[in-house]
Amino acid sequence: MASDPLVERMRAFGTTIFSEMSALAVRTGAVNLGQGFPDSDGPAEMIAAAGEALNSGANQYPPLPGIPALRAAITAHEQRFWGLTRDPDSQVVVTAGATEAIAASILALCEAGDEVVCFQPYYDSYAAAITLAGAVRRPVTLRPGADGRYHFDEAELRAAFGPRTRLLLLNSPHNPTGKVFTADELALIAELCHRHGVYAVTDEVYEHLVYTDAETPHIPLATLPGMADRTVRISSAGKSFSCTGWKVGWATGPAPLVSATLRVKQFLTFVNAAPFQPAVAVALGLPDSYFTEFRDVLQARRDRLVEGLRDAGFGVLPSAGTYYVTADITPLGGADGAEFCRAMPQRYGVVAVPTQVFYDDRDAGRHLIRFAFCKREHVIDEAVRRLRAPA
Ligand SMILES: *Cc1c(COP(=O)(O)O)cnc(C)c1O
Repeated sequence: MASDPLVERMRAFGTTIFSEMSALAVRTGAVNLGQGFPDSDGPAEMIAAAGEALNSGANQYPPLPGIPALRAAITAHEQRFWGLTRDPDSQVVVTAGATEAIAASILALCEAGDEVVCFQPYYDSYAAAITLAGAVRRPVTLRPGADGRYHFDEAELRAAFGPRTRLLLLNSPHNPTGKVFTADELALIAELCHRHGVYAVTDEVYEHLVYTDAETPHIPLATLPGMADRTVRISSAGKSFSCTGWKVGWATGPAPLVSATLRVKQFLTFVNAAPFQPAVAVALGLPDSYFTEFRDVLQARRDRLVEGLRDAGFGVLPSAGTYYVTADITPLGGADGAEFCRAMPQRYGVVAVPTQVFYDDRDAGRHLIRFAFCKREHVIDEAVRRLRAPA
């Protein structure tokens, strides 16, 4: 018998880097700026609504597409912030986090051998979902330019599209780089989707985390001319409402794409998170002030960490959004981010994540590591104190 029972196409995937680095932080007592989870609770109204739901019988299977109150809240939220009009009955599906929406939409839309254009570095579940579908990823590299911001090469993007391209997978605001795709970049992406008859799947879990000094606001790809009809737009409560453990996500889009996603999703988890669904509906209905205050808090934390990283000698790349900032380790004598991150608990008492694991072309990100700043201020301050005084 083969020594590894895992199917061949999944063997290149180890344990996710987040689990590995979080375990390392626990084992060494290091400050964990690796995995992107907040260390404080989300809005009190939302937590209270979950408690109420738990105590009033919302503990059985919810409807397959999600409870009506949540689907209505998702469409109202999309309308309020992005001007998108979707029918809550046929154009929304609630999923077990954005992760399930991503996997279900890729599995629903890709035949074996189809190609998926995505940007690298990419969120690690993309590569796994594409591989599970038997599809092939065509990554286009984001590289720091002279201005420090991440850019892609137009010719490289054009060349990634071809006769087998089925999907374009876009994450903006982008993890791990903090890049927010501009109107011009999105227009080019949309043009290529139209020209090649390609569907888009967009991961917008950081839709509310674009900072006030960003060069562009967040623009959902689905709001570009003609794109609402070919885009599955994915988001989730985890990042916007500091409840990553609840795993309540959703996909919206034209009815045929949502229905295809739903038909796969029903055999992955069927449904999830019954008592959290009404609570997320409450959160999505919070006034605009919740969203701007949340952004301002995260922006202040970003600034605190960025300043500390600069003082500690890292080459900090500007982050316009998300929970993250990336840093170049070469000014500190580092060459390989994976090696550097494994040594960080000893050297600094801090954990970060090497971004090379999010690239097919590891050399493109070998010298870069990612820090999460979605942590309480005293945690960031302690991390900064340690980073300034290495062992
Ligand atoms: C955290 C994250 C997800 C996963 O969201 P869940 O709702 O926890 O499944 C997906 N995409 C990106 C880019 C993320 O950072």
